[in-house]
Amino acid sequence: MRALIAGNWKMNGLRESLAEVAAVAAAAPGIAADLLLCLPATLLPLAPRELPLGAQDCHANASGAHTGDLSAEMLADAGASHIIVGHSERRCDHHETDAAVRAKAAAAHRAALTAIICVGETLAQRDANETLAVVTSQLAGSVPDGATPANTAIAYEPVWAIGTGRTPTPDQVAQVHAAIHDALQTRFGATFRILYGGSVKPDNAATLLALPHVHGALVGGASLKAADFLAIARAA
Ligand code: 13P
Repeated sequence: MRALIAGNWKMNGLRESLAEVAAVAAAAPGIAADLLLCLPATLLPLAPRELPLGAQDCHANASGAHTGDLSAEMLADAGASHIIVGHSERRCDHHETDAAVRAKAAAAHRAALTAIICVGETLAQRDANETLAVVTSQLAGSVPDGATPANTAIAYEPVWAIGTGRTPTPDQVAQVHAAIHDALQTRFGATFRILYGGSVKPDNAATLLALPHVHGALVGGASLKAADFLAIARAA
C-alpha cells in the first residue's frame, strides 16, 4: 500500500506560512508517498491546489445555526479532500465522544471527503494495560458503517506521544496497528490505511514507517517546516 504522509498543522499558520505549503507542493512529484497537509481552515482557500489539503475537524451537519462551526461541505468547498476527525485534542478539549466523532466522519463521507479518524490511549490507560481495549473500543464507536478504504483512514495517536518527543517502542506500535487492522478486517472485510501519529520526526520516521500495518504518518510539529515534513516523507 502506498504510504500517506499527512501533516496536521493544528492551530498554527498565517498567510506567510503558505511558503511552506508551496515548498511541499513543489517537491511532492519526486516523492514516492502520497502527501497531505491538514491546514487551519483559514488557509485552505489560499493554499496551492497542486497539493492535497485537509481540514482538522467539521460539524456533523451540512449547514444551520451552529455559530463558529464549519461543515464538511464548506471545507470541501474551501479546497479540502480530507478531514481529520476525533483528534485527541478535540476529544479532550471539546469533550468529543465516539458517537460525535462517528457523526463527523459520516459527515465527511456525505461531502465526498476522506475521513482520517484518530484513536489512541492516554498514558494512564497504557500503564493500566488498557491500550488495546481502549483503541478497539474507540474504533468500534468512531468508525461509521459507511466507511471504506477509499473514504477512511485511521490514525493511531497515543495521547502521551503527541508533542512530547516520546514514542511507543516499535513492538508497541506494531501491536496496536495489528489490532486495528484485525478489528477492521473483521467488521468490514477490508484493509484500511492505518497511520501512526505522535512525535514522528525525520530521525524516527524510517523505523516507524517500516513496521507492519503502518501505512503512513500523521505528523504534527514536524509538518510545519517543509524540510522536516519532506524528510519524513522521503523515509516512507
Ligand atoms: P506531534 O507530531 O507534534 O507529536 O503531533 C502529532 C499529532 O497530534 C498529529 O495529529
